[in-house]
Amino acid sequence: MSDPSDVHLTPLARSLPQTIPFVSADVAERRRGQPYAARLGANESGFGPSPAAVEAIAVAASGVWMYGDETGGPLREAIAARHGVSADQVRLGEGVDGLLGLAARLTLAPGAIAVMPEGGYPTFAYHAAGFGARIDRVPYRADQPDLAAMAAAAQRAKAAVVYLANPDNPMGGVYDAAAIRRFLEALPHETLLILDEAYAECAGDAPLLEMACDAPNLLRLRSFSKAYGLAGLRIGYAVGPAALVSSLDRVRNHFGVGRLSQAGALAAFEDSGYLEQTLMRIDACKARLGGVARAHGLTALPSATNFVAIDLGRDGAFTRRVLGALDAQDVFVRMPSVAPLDRCLRVSCGPDAEIALFEQAFGPALAEADAAA
Ligand SMILES: *Cc1c(COP(=O)(O)O)cnc(C)c1O
Repeated sequence: MSDPSDVHLTPLARSLPQTIPFVSADVAERRRGQPYAARLGANESGFGPSPAAVEAIAVAASGVWMYGDETGGPLREAIAARHGVSADQVRLGEGVDGLLGLAARLTLAPGAIAVMPEGGYPTFAYHAAGFGARIDRVPYRADQPDLAAMAAAAQRAKAAVVYLANPDNPMGGVYDAAAIRRFLEALPHETLLILDEAYAECAGDAPLLEMACDAPNLLRLRSFSKAYGLAGLRIGYAVGPAALVSSLDRVRNHFGVGRLSQAGALAAFEDSGYLEQTLMRIDACKARLGGVARAHGLTALPSATNFVAIDLGRDGAFTRRVLGALDAQDVFVRMPSVAPLDRCLRVSCGPDAEIALFEQAFGPALAEADAAA
């Protein structure tokens, strides 16, 4: 028998699992009754935001009684100018995760097909299911989303949407502009590509698709949560064809991106010196994590993000034991959800002191997981 309160829910809502896809570090800390000493699991930026952003938020704080600018104001203008697109082609949202929900709502009728990588970043699937879409999951190939197989799946199903995170989470790889252009050409013209570029700033020399790309079936999403270090503000933005992007106005929570978020994100966006510094710290950290992996005879996958997937060379059960042993040593990291990706441990970049704790705990955790095998 279903719960009596279910009578208020739509049949679709009743059919959805009652789960939250991620357990945050904060909730995990409360459950274990002990804080983490190294918070390296959620790809937050432990390097912190620009001091200019902190200052802008502090200055804006006493004005928090006022609603924000529902158009995105100067931040939206600055984003458009930086990317060489018109302000019509930009909308702010409550992080990439919030924008993914709006994009799903705009594009997925009940029964529509959404194609995505199996084991990839899960939030789009969560939203797609919430609008009654059917999800076609395509396995990775050589630790990258399999673009050819995803395009074939989209062709077969005449998919409404294909979702791709590029750079990728959880494996950290990236496709360059030419590969993404070929992928767009291989999709049916009625299929929208939602390109989640939460890690775009970290992609380094990998030449991402140019922002001025005017493909009619491409929606790009970017975040202030990762390289900019503002995950707690909940702010990101969409860029794409004006007609599509402005359609977000039909469904979005118009005052959902508050004044403090807009003020902090604008200051961070304009502090390019601090971003550069963070990216250098991320690169140094990735090199160090690569060294830690090698010291144990393991390899770190190439990363165009702010984290590193360390290939433990075993199975998901082994990785889970390593994760548990690290957790017991107050080190928070995560792992991919499906085989064969789950042979990897995903470690976010962070300050040296926290990476040192991971480095110390990693060897004993590997030994403990081995002994339990
Ligand atoms: C972290 C992450 C997000 C979440 O971004 P927010 O802007 O904080 O909502 C979205 N997509 C991917 C691939 C991520 O890794």
